[in-house]
Amino acid sequence: MAGVLDDAEISRILSITAHPDDVDFAAAGTVARWTDAGIEVIYCLVTDGDAGGLDEDFPREEMPARRRAEQVAAAKCVGVHDVRFLGYPDGRVEATLELRRDLARVIRQVRPDRVLCPSPERNYTRIGIGHPDHRAVGSAALDAVYPDARNPFAFPELRERESLAAWTVREVWIAAGPDPNHYVDVTETFPRKIAALRAHESQTGQMEDLPERIRTRLTMVARQAGLPGGRLAEGFRVLDTA
Ligand SMILES: [Zn+2]
Repeated sequence: MAGVLDDAEISRILSITAHPDDVDFAAAGTVARWTDAGIEVIYCLVTDGDAGGLDEDFPREEMPARRRAEQVAAAKCVGVHDVRFLGYPDGRVEATLELRRDLARVIRQVRPDRVLCPSPERNYTRIGIGHPDHRAVGSAALDAVYPDARNPFAFPELRERESLAAWTVREVWIAAGPDPNHYVDVTETFPRKIAALRAHESQTGQMEDLPERIRTRLTMVARQAGLPGGRLAEGFRVLDTA
């Protein structure tokens, strides 16, 4: 197990993801545990998920608003009430300097102790996890944590024009990466994770077997974590970034 900060030392956590539903598939059970413990969790989404949804009859121009609303509803299921969208186009995210600056801005605004983000690496055993947008956001988020947000001379316009002081994030949790080193038991919060996933109706409305599918995966992760049978877990790679 990694040396992980005690949740009692944590006041705020910023989750950075590419699309609506990413945080819910990867970590909603853990997020519910954090908010239950009195930690404030803020979501930052790089895109509105405007390339998502399976219903071809649904007007595409209404998709961004629909998916934003679904994410806001999903967030409420796990105790999150602050959801921010950067509005990048879905499917075309790159780890640009502009994205790094936009993420460094949010980090300096929120001043989180811990950042949750996707992995910048490909996962060869589960190709769907390594969507190019996820990898780009993972890479830009890590660069925003180190060095951009903490270096007062990186993106000086943030300080000069927006009065945003440098901020050091102490810990990063990479969700759904290829090599987890920390596990959270989410057996108790599983129903809220499913409720959050169900809130993404445009994505999960057709998935009748959603709870079983998620239960099977989280059971596998719990086994990997060495938890007793019947338990469910989410896995993370925890990095000390202090
Ligand atoms: Zn995604």
